[in-house]
Parts: sequence; C-alpha cells; structure tokens
Amino acid sequence: MPKVLISIIIPLHNEEKNIPILYKKLKGVTDKLGYNVEIIIVDDGSVDDSFKALKKIQEKDARLEIVQFTRNFGKEMATTAGIHYANGDACIIIDADLQHPPELIPEFIRKWEGGAEVVIGIRKSVSDSFSKKVCSYLYYKTINRISDTKLYPNGTDFQLLDRIVIDEFNKMTENRRITRGLINWLGFRKDFIYFDAPERAWGKSGYGFFKRVRLASHSIVNLSLFPLRLAGYLGIFITLSSAVTALFVVIEKYVMKDPWGLNITGVAILVFVNLVLVGIILICLGLIALYIANIHNETLGRPLYVIRRMEAIETKETKR
Ligand code: UDP
Ligand code: MG
Repeated sequence: MPKVLISIIIPLHNEEKNIPILYKKLKGVTDKLGYNVEIIIVDDGSVDDSFKALKKIQEKDARLEIVQFTRNFGKEMATTAGIHYANGDACIIIDADLQHPPELIPEFIRKWEGGAEVVIGIRKSVSDSFSKKVCSYLYYKTINRISDTKLYPNGTDFQLLDRIVIDEFNKMTENRRITRGLINWLGFRKDFIYFDAPERAWGKSGYGFFKRVRLASHSIVNLSLFPLRLAGYLGIFITLSSAVTALFVVIEKYVMKDPWGLNITGVAILVFVNLVLVGIILICLGLIALYIANIHNETLGRPLYVIRRMEAIETKETKR
C-alpha cells in the first residue's frame, strides 16, 4: 500500500526573511511525521527576494513545489491554487509568517486520523488592537446572522482538509471567495484546534484596513443574499409605516376635523404620499432583487449537493 501523502500549502507574499525560519521548523516537524510530505508554496506576486529564497531551499529539498503567480492575486486565490495543486491524501494550509505554529501539524493529523474531515485552527488569544477586535466581532455577528454558511469567530485558514474535501472544494469556480467560507459551505465532519497566535515573525501584514474591508464585503456578497433583499425589506417598512401615518392624518384632519389641534399642513400630507411611493419603488426593487439573487446563485454554479460516500447493497433491483 502506498504511503500516505500530506500536502502542506503555504500562500506567500513578500516573506523573504520568514522563509528560512519557516522551512527549518517545517522540516523538523515533517521529518518526524512518518508520512510522505509535499510542500506547495504559492508565491503570490512577491516583489522581494522570496522566490530566490525558495529556490535555494528547493535545490536541497525536492519535496518543495513552487507555484509562482504573475502578480499579486491575494491570499484567497493563493490558497485556492495551493489546494488545486495538492496531491495529498490530506492538505494543511499554513501561513508563511509563523503565526500558525508548524509544531501543531502533528495534532492536526491526529484529529484527521481520528475521523475529522476538516480540522480548523482557532486563535485562542487575540492580541489585536481594540478597534480591530470590535470590527471583527461585528463582522462575525453580521455574517453569521445573514448567511446560512457559518464562519467561526477567530477561525483561521490554518486548516487540514481531507482528500474528499479537497476534491469537492476544487469543483467551486467562483471568483470572489473567502476560502474558509467555501469550506464551511461544503459541510463535512469538523474538529478544532485552539492555539495562541504569536506576532508575525518578520515583516508587515499584507492585510491593511481597506483590504480587510474589501475581503469582508466580498465574503458577505459571496455567502449571503441578505443585502440584495434589503431594499425590499426597507420598502415594506416605509410603505407600511407611512401608509398607517397617512391614514391617521386623513382621519384626524378630514373625518374627525382635527380634534387634537395638530394643524397638519398640505406639505406634510404631500410628504406622506411621497413616502408611500418611495416605499412602493423600493418594494419593486426588492422584487427585482429576488430575480438577481436567482441569477447570482446560478452563476456561482455551486454543486447542488455534496456527498460523503454512497453505500448500497447491490441487488438485482437496485442495480440499473
Ligand atoms: N499573503 C498572500 N497574499 C497576499 C497577502 C498575504 O499570499 O496578498 C500570505 C502571507 O504571505 C501569509 C498569509 O497570506 O503567509 C497571511 O497573510 P498576513 O500575515 O499578511 O495576514 P494576517 O495574518 O495579518 O491576517
Ligand atoms: Mg499574519
């Protein structure tokens, strides 16, 4: 029986000084693993000497495969490419900046051997600034409320995927994606590893505030249809509330002849008429959005369902 192969996937952008430290740690861990290992590094348009540093290691270690992008496509795409090129029975995705401790790899593998199909690394202590913590809290609260696909708070891309998950993941072709979201969408049996993420070993995070906001908005569009429906909900709310108020105004002023002395002017009445119309327009937009949501779903082209395995006792009746 061929030996089990583990693919280690590393999305990497401008990490020249981290590469030798990371490799040393990875080598220490993988040499003792007892499994075959391939290391797939996706160089996501690095403009420093990362590629040179990688080549130097590759000359000594043939397990290293380098996938070099033509430009910076972002971590989500680098991770996706790594998963595409993985040949392993399982893959482990890990950051290049040593914020995901390679020493935990055997623990991921133990959970996989124990039956988990996806093992997710969750950051225990978060040393982020107060504002980043608040933004992240709000983000997870929002997305988990408006989307059927849950994202685990403090969940990271430090994950192990079984071959069966890799194959299903590779069927997904959507452009704007958050890898973690797609993996969660697939389902499968999950297990978790809680870890302390140290500071990045060297260099600066590739994800500044605006890049994070963009990723968050992509993930919301990718995982939820709620923003599309928002106009419709707003329309229903505005139409109902302004219609009720308009009815009250008409009855108070014209039927009951202003018993409370509100002296409602013609301009105010015009405002309410306007509001009802605005509400109706928003409701119409909401209706159009329902169809756009349908088109959106169709263009994502996700698998209709995901099967773990099929089991049947073949008899003459079931075999067609
Ligand atoms: N990364 C990448 N492409 C990018 C930005 C980052 O492949 O455009 C890699 C980076 O080299 C690292 C991982 O993705 O291995 C995590 O990136 P980073 O540390 O910048 O993000 P953070 O940890 O701050 O979320
Ligand atoms: Mg980092």
